[in-house]
Amino acid sequence: MTIATTDHAQIAAQPSWRPFRVTVSRVQQLSPSFVRITFTAGNLDEFGHDGPDQRVKLYLPRDGHELPELSLDWWSQYRHADPATRGFVRTYTIRAVRPQHREVDIDFALHGDGGPASAWARRATVGDEVALIGPNRLYGADCRGHEWNPPVGADDVLIAGDETALPAISGILASLRESPTCPARVRVMLEVPEPGDMIDLPAPEHAEVTWLPRRGSDGSAAANGSLLVESVCASGFGRDRRAEAAPTSTVDTVDIDLEILWEIAAAASSSVYAWIAGEAGAVKAIRRHLVGECGIDKSAVTFMGYWRTGRAEV
Ligand SMILES: Cc1cc2nc3c(=O)[nH]c(=O)nc-3n(C[C@H](O)[C@H](O)[C@H](O)COP(=O)(O)OP(=O)(O)OC[C@H]3O[C@@H](n4cnc5c(N)ncnc54)[C@H](O)[C@@H]3O)c2cc1C
Repeated sequence: MTIATTDHAQIAAQPSWRPFRVTVSRVQQLSPSFVRITFTAGNLDEFGHDGPDQRVKLYLPRDGHELPELSLDWWSQYRHADPATRGFVRTYTIRAVRPQHREVDIDFALHGDGGPASAWARRATVGDEVALIGPNRLYGADCRGHEWNPPVGADDVLIAGDETALPAISGILASLRESPTCPARVRVMLEVPEPGDMIDLPAPEHAEVTWLPRRGSDGSAAANGSLLVESVCASGFGRDRRAEAAPTSTVDTVDIDLEILWEIAAAASSSVYAWIAGEAGAVKAIRRHLVGECGIDKSAVTFMGYWRTGRAEV
C-alpha cells in the first residue's frame, strides 16, 4: 500500500503517544478485587486503540497536589520533578475505548493500599482528575504499545495470566471471538484472588477457560502465581510440538529483580503461540517450563512480567 504524501506529513507532525488530561466519570465494582473506572475528556475521540492488549501510562497526582499540565516530553518532566511532590506513573491496559462518547475504561485489580495506583482506584470518585499517556489516533499509523500478535498458522494457542492480565486477556478473547481466523485450540488460564473474581469473559465458544482462584473455600490462600505455574505445567501445552522447536531456543538468565522480564514473540509462522503475563517470578517459571523443559521455540511465546513482588513499578 502506498501512503499518500499528506499521510506522511500527518505522521511526521503528530506524536504516536501523548498525554490526555481526563476526569473520572463512572466507578463500577466488577467483583471483589476489580473496579472499572471510566475516564472522560473532550479530546478522548483522539485516543487510539491499536491492539486488544493496548497499554497506557497512568499519571496520578500525589495526595494534596494538583495534577500538572504534562507536555509531550512528560517523561523527562516527571523525571526532573521533585520526587517528594511529583505524582506516580503506573502501567495499565485499556479495557474499552468509546470515541463517540469520549470515554475510556480501565479495570484495576485492587491489592489494598500497598501501592498508590491500587489505593487511588479503591477511593476514586466521579470528578477525580488524572492523566493518561496513551496512543494518539491522529498519528495515523500503529502507535504501538500492544503485544498480542499470533504467528501465521498458529492453531494451538495458550493465553495465561494473573488478575493484572485479566483486562488484556478479556480484550484478546473479544478480538478472537470476532476473528474469522480464530485458532482451532485456545486454552486460557487465569489466576485471580477470589472465586467471586471469575467474571464473564467475552470468549469464543470453543475456548477452554480454566479459572484459578487463589482463595479456597476453607479460607486458605495460595501464593501469587503458584496456581498459574502449576496449571500451565500440567497442561501439556506444546509438548507434542517439541520437534518444531528451534535448536537455538535456550533459556537465558533474567534477573527479574533488576530487569523487566519482557520477551515478545517474533516468529513469522508457528503452529503454537503463547501469551503469558503476570507476576514476574511466575512468568519466569512458566518460561523455564515452556522453553527449557518443553523445548518450545521462544520466538513463539510472549513473556511479560507485569509486576514484581516487593517492587513498586517506578
Ligand atoms: C503492560 C502492563 C499492563 C498492565 N495492565 C494492568 C491492568 O489493566 N490492571 C491492573 O490492575 N494492573 C495492570 N498492570 C499491573 C500494574 O501496573 C501493577 O500491578 C502496578 O504495580 C500497580 O501499581 P501500584 O501503585 O498499585 O503498586 P506499586 O507501587 O507498583 O507496588 C507497590 C507494592 O505492591 C505490589 N503489587 C503491585 N501490584 C500488585 C498486585 N496486583 N497484587 C499484589 N501486589 C502487587 C508490588 O510488588 C509492591 O510491593 C499492568 C502492568 C503492565 C506492565
